[in-house]
Amino acid sequence: MKTIYMDNNATTKISKEVMGAMLPCMFRFYGNPSSSYAIGAEVSQKIEEARSQVADLIGAEPEEIIFTSGGTESDNTAIRSAISLKPDKKTIVTSSVEHPAIRALCSYLGKNGYRIIEIPVNKHGELDIEKYRKSLNEDTAIASLMWANNETGVLFPVEIAAEMAREKGILFHTDAVQAAGKIKINLKNTAIDMLSLSGHKIHGPKGTGVLYVRSGTPFYPMMLGGHQERGRRAGTENTPGIIGLGKASELAAFHLKENSFRIRTMRNRLEKGIIESVPGAVINGYNAPRLPNTSNISFGNIDGESVLLMLDEIGIAVSTGSACSAGSPDPSHVLLAMGLSPLKAKSSVRFSLGIDNTAEDVDLVLEHIPGIIEQLRSISPLRGVEQKAA
Ligand code: PLP
Repeated sequence: MKTIYMDNNATTKISKEVMGAMLPCMFRFYGNPSSSYAIGAEVSQKIEEARSQVADLIGAEPEEIIFTSGGTESDNTAIRSAISLKPDKKTIVTSSVEHPAIRALCSYLGKNGYRIIEIPVNKHGELDIEKYRKSLNEDTAIASLMWANNETGVLFPVEIAAEMAREKGILFHTDAVQAAGKIKINLKNTAIDMLSLSGHKIHGPKGTGVLYVRSGTPFYPMMLGGHQERGRRAGTENTPGIIGLGKASELAAFHLKENSFRIRTMRNRLEKGIIESVPGAVINGYNAPRLPNTSNISFGNIDGESVLLMLDEIGIAVSTGSACSAGSPDPSHVLLAMGLSPLKAKSSVRFSLGIDNTAEDVDLVLEHIPGIIEQLRSISPLRGVEQKAA
């Protein structure tokens, strides 16, 4: 059975070119990049090429790129750096819909002397920018807002938010794990001080990521040890991973326009087809600026997890939200923050398309979804529950 993979916000398949770039690092370029003999120096050279490739993807300078083990480490590092450098400032401003990589750290810090301000979103998933602006003050150590939401694809105006933070002398970080490679990012003329991205979301290897730190931004490392990454992230470099991430960045930048056009066209057709064939289906975040690939749809009084399982039986892979909360009985905090009832939130399914999807994939999903939803609705013990509650 062919797998139709529509869960690209959870992770992506490594592309052939990326694998091709990584393979020689396993046996030929095996030297330690810190060693000064030739086989070390040639690996070091390859890492610098990868640094430039990532920098080009986000409009940065190579020396502003720090390689990490992924989005989670980059997010943690950015916030921990800011609070280490400003121990007298005890407030962190973030949003109510961040990824667990930010939320869990903020929750920990909230229990350890910090005040965490979560800026709310409206029913479309859009940030309350006025509330954000007003929340920034002399006690704020850092503001951190995601660029694109992993569940709905809704984009936050992070460039404007970064300007607001800069006006008050506050560091600004953005989690761009879902945005990088999907929308154009050019950090040059922005006030964004730090940005996180992840290799496995852009057809690169898992366990690789980047923290961008603007030149001149005060920075304190999270990993202490050797002098790798100019003392900003200790530990022998994951050479194959870094080189794979570099290649993935180059490809993402090169194909960004055509990919996003093609994927958006498929996504829009998928949404139109579902809305026309499934009464009561609602697209979450439809009226907000969104990523081109993501569609989060609520189906009403059924369990999204059942939709996922029935689609899985016919080889279609989707999810009910963040991969990091898969299997959790709790409704999505993102959808709750947008004002959905717990029942509606639990009925939601995320389709996240990618470069390998085709028009036939969309046809197949559209062929099966109406029947699946009808079947689940006919046996749902929740039939009518929402209406009665209202
Ligand atoms: N931030 C966002 C918005 C994400 O979607 C993810 C992964 O799903 C992460 C952070 C974590 O990235 P990683 O899996 O590379 O640690």
